[in-house]
Amino acid sequence: MVKIYNTLTRTKEEFKPIEEGKVRMYVCGPTVYNYIHIGNARPMIVFDTVRRYFLYKGYQVNYVSNFTDVDDKIIKESIEEGKSAQEVAEFYIAECKKDMEAMNIMPATKNPRATEEIGGMIDMIQTLIDKGDAYVVSDGTVYYKTRSFQGYGKLSHKNIDDLEGGHRDIKVTGDEKQDPLDFVLWKPKKEGEPSWPSPWCDGRPGWHIECSVMSKRYLGDTIDIHAGGEDLIFPHHENEIAQSEAANGVPFAHYWMHNGFLNIDNRKMSKSLGNFLLVREILKRYNADVLRFFMLSAQYRSPLNYSEDLMESAKSGLERIRTAGDRLKDLIAKATQMEMTEEEDELLDTTKEYVNEFEEAMDDDFNTADAIAAIFDLVKFANTKLDEESSGGILMAVFEKIEKLMGVLGLEFTVDRDEIDPQIQELIDKRQQARKEKNFALADQIRDELLSQGIELLDTREGVKWKRV
Ligand code: AMP
Ligand code: ZN
Repeated sequence: MVKIYNTLTRTKEEFKPIEEGKVRMYVCGPTVYNYIHIGNARPMIVFDTVRRYFLYKGYQVNYVSNFTDVDDKIIKESIEEGKSAQEVAEFYIAECKKDMEAMNIMPATKNPRATEEIGGMIDMIQTLIDKGDAYVVSDGTVYYKTRSFQGYGKLSHKNIDDLEGGHRDIKVTGDEKQDPLDFVLWKPKKEGEPSWPSPWCDGRPGWHIECSVMSKRYLGDTIDIHAGGEDLIFPHHENEIAQSEAANGVPFAHYWMHNGFLNIDNRKMSKSLGNFLLVREILKRYNADVLRFFMLSAQYRSPLNYSEDLMESAKSGLERIRTAGDRLKDLIAKATQMEMTEEEDELLDTTKEYVNEFEEAMDDDFNTADAIAAIFDLVKFANTKLDEESSGGILMAVFEKIEKLMGVLGLEFTVDRDEIDPQIQELIDKRQQARKEKNFALADQIRDELLSQGIELLDTREGVKWKRV
């Protein structure tokens, strides 16, 4: 039984799908005006893992995640780059997909783009106007009438009157907005900006309406899970609820999941603060699976502080698991006896406990930190209980168990060892350079450094070769 911490009720609740055996899930995706940073990568990795665990449990998952490809920040970037907003968005969507593939994020069932869903947005806005939940002002701006929605504040647990108190100063003279709390559904175009015709004016949609519409179109009026980073709870998700529930007349999402922030030096990592690290910068130093393993080393709701130390420990943790995988493969290749003995049968039975440990951790609001601990227990079992005497049968069974659980985390149990870590390659290149410059002291120092990391260099006539020792 999967339990999910629901931001709406602030409790862990048993997951009950709308449709037996199926999960309808929407994850708010990035605004594409730059390469993604590792903070953006956190929701991608954790909700991909949520999806993989549901698949492991036998569910079918309809996973929808959007690209916000029309937005002030994209327009600003397009002016700076001297390109159209569409070109900027296209470019960063393609780059984002490359990063996602590297991080082994399963492609979404559907990645809708806001600019391709304008018709649906106009329809929903019209419905809201017709129902009296939205209004048009003289320049063609359409506002949502926040106070007309009874449940406003239910997700963020805010009291609507406190909100107004805090926002009163926003109202500017000449603004026809009826209440400072009202937010934009449609806004008139400015010169040089992308725009679409609508019954109210040529213009473009507000950010919140995009997700309400894309979720409805691809998943239906009521969905199981709506997810994103915790910064989206207010106002983005609160506004999505107001729009969708007012327009559709049914609950929008049963479970609201929010990941904690990825911090750097204990401050939120964000584009606006300028303290972000791009995924592709990290990938020059670490393999993408190290980043993934690092992200999953914490429960998704806890804040996670990025540091080199934690990345290094993620790297060595992953290496420990993979060394066990290589050893098992090696033992399987050498095994003379395939069939398991009776004792082995019993021994194998004891590993069920670790699989249970893994499942209990994941059932408990996707506690990947504890799930990883269960994998380490299995690794320890493999390292201490299996050896040259073991049958191929038990070796293979244990190998497959670990492989399957690693797969839930989106990680390979064993990797092609011909592929070398970017940091190691950098050292090898540095040593070559040192040799060329006849700086043999440095070259030897690097050779020793590599050896301490388990890489032995062999200088052959065809050039430098390496092997793991
Ligand atoms: P944005 O492009 O800013 O709309 O962000 C896309 C997604 O990344 C949203 O779900 C954000 O909540 C999430 N996000 C942005 N920065 C961070 C961060 N530092 N840590 C975790 N999630 C983040
Ligand atoms: Zn959204």
